[in-house]
Order: sequence, then structure tokens, then C-alpha cells
Amino acid sequence: MTLTVIINLVLASTRDPGVVPRNDKSQLEEVGTSIGSRSRRISVSGVEVKVKYCRICKIFRPPRSCHCTVCDNCVEKFDHHCPWISQCIGLRNYRYYLMFIFSDLVFFIYIFAFSSWRIRRKMVNTGSGVFGVIQSAPEIFALAVFSFVSIWFLGGLLVFHAYLITLNQTARENFKQRYAKSPNPYDKGILGNLKEALFTRLPPSKVNFRAVVEPNWGSITRILTNSTDGDDEASIMMQHAFSRKEESPQESSESEHFEEIELK
Ligand SMILES: [Zn+2]
Ligand SMILES: [Zn+2]
Repeated sequence: MTLTVIINLVLASTRDPGVVPRNDKSQLEEVGTSIGSRSRRISVSGVEVKVKYCRICKIFRPPRSCHCTVCDNCVEKFDHHCPWISQCIGLRNYRYYLMFIFSDLVFFIYIFAFSSWRIRRKMVNTGSGVFGVIQSAPEIFALAVFSFVSIWFLGGLLVFHAYLITLNQTARENFKQRYAKSPNPYDKGILGNLKEALFTRLPPSKVNFRAVVEPNWGSITRILTNSTDGDDEASIMMQHAFSRKEESPQESSESEHFEEIELK
């Protein structure tokens, strides 16, 4: 059972959640930042949705995707960033995340049942009360309390995600009340939504993780051209780093990095 939990944890935390590759071509940045062209409208199941431009990745984000500030990537069908496994939960690892929660829940139910049985057995054998067991075997009592709290936390999380699956909504869409005033174009009915979330074939990763990283010569050339002092390579790289940092507050104040599509 422990092995199952570990395997599901590895699957959920190491798989590509659906990262959308960046586009480093400068001309697309110009298109995206010009007034009036930061969004496009596309039709999904007869409902018109607005697809927004990500200034960091320099792409028009696919519907339901979002830029994660922690991972610094646009992720397809972004659900949330899970701090417990330090990974985005998106299109390609959502079902593994659910399997991880479910196996965790079964694991903690087993621990709680077994530790409760041990506590009761000790009470019967020694004739002492609960406080007697705490003094003689505090580790069993601590396990019972910890697993009891975990069961409620994981159970609540699993019920919430089961509810989201039946509606075909991501956690982010639900928190933002995305479909409060308009129909959900992705809703296929309960059975269709279950099939899509758990049984449809996952698309291959769009990122080539074995590709060689190439320096962004366009940015460095611009800095070289605009630079008045600091000819050495170190100062160039520092200016390049600062120029990237300056972009972030502007983006976050404008959209908190979490804007993607808006239903018309
Ligand atoms: Zn992005
Ligand atoms: Zn993330």
C-alpha cells in the first residue's frame, strides 16, 4: 500500500502537467503587446470564449490554460498549483493526482483502523483508560490522531474534485465562478465528463525536455545596443536578468499571472 502511494506521488509530481511551449520570437511579442490584440475570440461548442495573450510565454494561451507563477509556465487545463507535491495540476497529470489522493485516503483509513484496534486492545489488556495508553504507547495515539485528521482533509478534497469532474470544471474555474452567468461549453453530461477526466487518452507532452537550451541572443543583442556602460559579459547578463525581473510586477499587477479566458 505504501508503494502504491509512492508510485502515484511520483506519477503526479514528475509528469509534465501540460506545459505549453514558449515562443521566443520577438515579432510575436510585438503583436501581443500592441493595443487591441491581446486577446482573440474562438468558438467552443457554440460558445464564444476569449483567449488571452501571455506576455511571458509570448503565446496566445489555449482555452482553460493559465500561467502558473510558481512554475513560471502556461499549463493546459490548469487546475491549481499543489504546494504539497510542488507541481502544477493540469491536463496531463490530473488523474494521477486523483489516484494519489485516493490511495492516500485508503492508506490513512488503514492506519487509523489499525492504530484504533491497537489502542482498544491495549486498553482491554492493561485495564487502563485512554490516558493510560497515551502514557504507555504515545506513538500509537499520535498515529491515530494524525490519520484521523488526514482522512477528513483527503476525503473532503476527493469529494470536491469528484464534484468538479461531474461538472467538467477545473478548481480555478470553480473558484472564479467562470460559468455562473454563461453555459459551460465543456460540459458533456456526468458520464461524458467522467470519461473525459478518467479514461480518455492523454495527449503527448508538447515540451521536448531533452532539447538543448539555446541562449536568447535577441534579448542580449538589444541590451548590447542600448547599453551605455558595462561592456563585460557579466554586466550584460546582469542587465538581462534585471530586465526580465522588471517584466514580472507589470504582468502581475495587470493580471496576477492568472488570467486566461473569459466567457463573453
Ligand atoms: Zn505563460
Ligand atoms: Zn505550478
